[in-house]
Amino acid sequence: LVTIRDVRKSFGEVEVLKGIDLDVMHGEVLCLIGPSGSGKSTLLRCVNVLEQIDGGYIQVENDFAGATVRNGELHEPSEAELARYRQRIGMVFQHFNLFAHLTALENVTIGLVKVRGFAKSEAVARARASLSDVGLEHLENSYPRHLSGGQQQRVAIARALAMEPRLMLFDEPTSALDPELVGEVLSVMRRVAERGMTMIVVTHEMRFARDVADRVAFMDQGRIAEIDDAKKLIDSPTSERTKNFLNHVK
Ligand code: ATP
Ligand code: MG
Repeated sequence: LVTIRDVRKSFGEVEVLKGIDLDVMHGEVLCLIGPSGSGKSTLLRCVNVLEQIDGGYIQVENDFAGATVRNGELHEPSEAELARYRQRIGMVFQHFNLFAHLTALENVTIGLVKVRGFAKSEAVARARASLSDVGLEHLENSYPRHLSGGQQQRVAIARALAMEPRLMLFDEPTSALDPELVGEVLSVMRRVAERGMTMIVVTHEMRFARDVADRVAFMDQGRIAEIDDAKKLIDSPTSERTKNFLNHVK
């Protein structure tokens, strides 16, 4: 589903992604782990076109994340192509980014009306179904400030799922939460995975990575240093750097 080839990204003089190659299969869950500053968030932001890449290409199904050189020719996607590319990639951040002045239901409904173009009644029905998927149907009229961090994150997941994404990106979705709230968000994510969603998840939750992910990629200094079957990489990593990292987070 996702093809990432020789992707490079610099901020000023600093090259943050130094040639990333990665394929994610349809229905696969890939966890990205690695030290702070290794480029995990930048890679997700490039996939979602929140950042433009400087080299290589990123393809999701038949759509490209930006201009690419293929067979020696420059291809520049039109606005419509770029909109189609982005529309169906869901992203969930560490900080939930909900609209504070909208209820849970309104937070989920708004994109369905404004981006997907559904009529209000259809949008509300879809939003309710999505909230019910994350176990929050009883809180649809609550404002974010009246919800716990875990509940807010579940609304953020419902909002992304309601758009019927072909790919879900998660950037440390539980690292801003109190420890007792982490479990409810991870179990929602596990259910989403079990229903066959393709997911790329940046996380420090090694148990989740080991149990839910198909593969784990260890990023270090802008490169993928090791990538393997999840249990294999976490239980018996081959590179010293991966071993070191895992000893620090486990
Ligand atoms: P963390 O685990 O702390 O979230 P990360 O692996 O997600 O780290 P990134 O956020 O991708 O790392 O950052 C990689 C490098 O790129 C860092 O050195 C960071 O300072 C730099 N960087 C990221 N975004 C920008 C930006 N907009 N402008 C300049 N430098 C940036
Ligand atoms: Mg990050």
